[in-house]
Amino acid sequence: MNILWIKTNQIIKTIFSNYVWDIPNNEKKVYLTFDDGPTPKITEWVLEQLKTYNYKATFFCIGNNIEKYPGIFNKLITEGHAVGNHTFNHVKGWNTANRVYLKEVEQCEEEIQKSSPKNIQSKLFRPPYGKIKPLQSQKLRKQGYKIIMWDVLSVDYNTTITKEKCLKNVLKNVASGSIIVFHDSIKAFPNLEYALPKTLQFLSENGYRCERID
Ligand SMILES: [Zn+2]
Repeated sequence: MNILWIKTNQIIKTIFSNYVWDIPNNEKKVYLTFDDGPTPKITEWVLEQLKTYNYKATFFCIGNNIEKYPGIFNKLITEGHAVGNHTFNHVKGWNTANRVYLKEVEQCEEEIQKSSPKNIQSKLFRPPYGKIKPLQSQKLRKQGYKIIMWDVLSVDYNTTITKEKCLKNVLKNVASGSIIVFHDSIKAFPNLEYALPKTLQFLSENGYRCERID
């Protein structure tokens, strides 16, 4: 599937109900997610922002980046955040043979285990670009993975939108149970640096709590 919208509508959520789009609750709990790290300085900056509010989040990491920056990856876990699998090389499911795709996930999983303080296994998976073939998703779910999509896309990775628009994408669409996507990547940082602190402030002032996805 190809995701081009900012707020995922109910029809999509119903059709693709094997994927997790949100985590409904009435307690104003929301779920911040950060894709494509760990990235030196940027991931650590995100951790500092979260710490200010004692918020927890979920980081969908690229295996190749975990291999390069195991110390930062380790820090995510020791600071109480959840980590998830985002393939080893950030591959697009649509263009990738199933066997290769599954191998990519396995390789990322190996990095996660190798670099975790407690040898944890992550059973959270987010497909890069939101593009995954039905058979790929079926096989991963059979292996016990939860396929985590999203309710609100900040579009922070798009360098052609303004930082104000990026912030608005989130603030206009967030609701109790939302899974929100940001990126702890170099490309997204100009938007993220502006939008994340303001998002956290908004959530805090409006009584939201940010929790990790389990
Ligand atoms: Zn990604």
